[in-house]
Amino acid sequence: MSVIIDDTCITCDACLQQCPVNAIVDDSNNPMGNNRYYVQPEKCIECVGVYDDPQCAAICPSIGCITWDMPYTKEFDGHYLNTEVYKLSEKNGIPKSPEFREKKYRKDILNEDRGVGKIVQEEPDELVEVG
Ligand code: SF4
Ligand code: SF4
Repeated sequence: MSVIIDDTCITCDACLQQCPVNAIVDDSNNPMGNNRYYVQPEKCIECVGVYDDPQCAAICPSIGCITWDMPYTKEFDGHYLNTEVYKLSEKNGIPKSPEFREKKYRKDILNEDRGVGKIVQEEPDELVEVG
């Protein structure tokens, strides 16, 4: 991955249409059975090469709902094989983990800035009235 959607998702559907690689599924198709949208990490490219920032987070009205996850690289194969958090699609019964295929990720986002609570979209600064 990439990015991950937490339980503050309000199932508004805004992100689904924004994803350039159709990595997001809605709550009724969430493979973990949770009542929220779900990013398929084996598909997410962090919008690299398409947009400047993850578009799902840019449009999400629930600030902080979408957080950075680890890069989808072999180094994090075990992370993505955690079946309590992810359900990867499979090919011939083998999960499409990073060992199967790595995905693009934003190299400017360091690993220490990824993980639970590391939000992609910051709370906007308080608006200052002008004039
Ligand atoms: S970061 Fe981009 S590629 Fe990944 S789920 Fe969000 S919109 Fe899709
Ligand atoms: S835009 Fe945000 S709140 Fe809306 S469905 Fe996507 S993750 Fe959930």
